[in-house]
Amino acid sequence: MAGAPLNAPLELTSTYVGSMSTAAGAPVYGRSDNATWEALESAIGTLEGAPDGCVAFSSGMAAVAAVLELVPVNGLLVVPPAAYNTTLELARRLEAQARLRIFTVDPSDLDAVRDTLEPGGMVWVESPSNPLLEVVDIEGVVRIAREVGATTVADNTFATPLLQRPLTLGVDVVVHSVTKYLAGHSDLLMGAVVTRDTTLREEVFTTRRLTGAVPGPFEAWLALRGLRTLDVRLERSQTTARELARRLAGHKCVGRVRFPGSGGMISIEVIPNTAAVADRVVAAMRLWTSATSLGGVESLAERRRRHANEPTSVPESLIRLSVGLEHVDDLWEDLAAALEAIDGG
Ligand SMILES: *Cc1c(COP(=O)(O)O)cnc(C)c1O
Repeated sequence: MAGAPLNAPLELTSTYVGSMSTAAGAPVYGRSDNATWEALESAIGTLEGAPDGCVAFSSGMAAVAAVLELVPVNGLLVVPPAAYNTTLELARRLEAQARLRIFTVDPSDLDAVRDTLEPGGMVWVESPSNPLLEVVDIEGVVRIAREVGATTVADNTFATPLLQRPLTLGVDVVVHSVTKYLAGHSDLLMGAVVTRDTTLREEVFTTRRLTGAVPGPFEAWLALRGLRTLDVRLERSQTTARELARRLAGHKCVGRVRFPGSGGMISIEVIPNTAAVADRVVAAMRLWTSATSLGGVESLAERRRRHANEPTSVPESLIRLSVGLEHVDDLWEDLAAALEAIDGG
């Protein structure tokens, strides 16, 4: 429409003017409706192949929690041995509260997945996984879940819909920490749940409405702004990550390099393979920032086992690298100098 603003409105309101004759579908209250989220939900839904949009949450964990609500009481949740630590911690807490049962299965062992899953259960997939960057045969897991009558969930935070669209592979529900690549500027927390199943979508929407885990309109507006450049950010980050992974593989102070071939995340294990040495390397970095989180403009490094809730299958010395948008040679120079600190320090 001529004269319309190019950008979605930043709708800062808790309520909407109503009357006894308020039209069906008209916005009513800020815990159910907001035009800024709706623009973001439509964009993320389109990217993931869910034309009806998604349900945005106040954080990735709020989205994860809403999806775990879909497991029936005392139902089975199959989780991988290593995944985002707080997702696993929440699942364990729900198990301790007798809300659901957890079974830990390596999703690369499809026979074990088949032996474990139950009708009505849920299988949780993270691919590439945080922080081991393991890649799952999503279609294989989906085939088994469908045979059994279980729901498949994929946390697509690391791949983003530009590299992988789990719904098109048959996954029932996709979750995102929008905080990471989608928003992309380390300036907000937000989550999203995407599904084409209208019943599941309605359930998740109701959970958000009842628990109130709604995103702030300003965060949604910023996320929309960040999402616009996802493609160019990811392309740059991926090109740099590929080159850094190649150089790291040839470095005498680096043992295993994990890089799934696409995306902007790398995990390395240093030599000697100890927490103290890895901490010294991270502390010696100048351009890379020592911080948790990922998917932003600035490159971040973190030894994951510093978190008490990190799965013990993650090596003590593993450093997770989130490759940002700085120049590849600057990033390499800083990384190589920090690795030299192993000898020098
Ligand atoms: C960060 C993260 C989450 C949680 O998201 P928040 O926005 O921090 O609540 C979930 N899954 C993965 C893979 C993550 O990296």
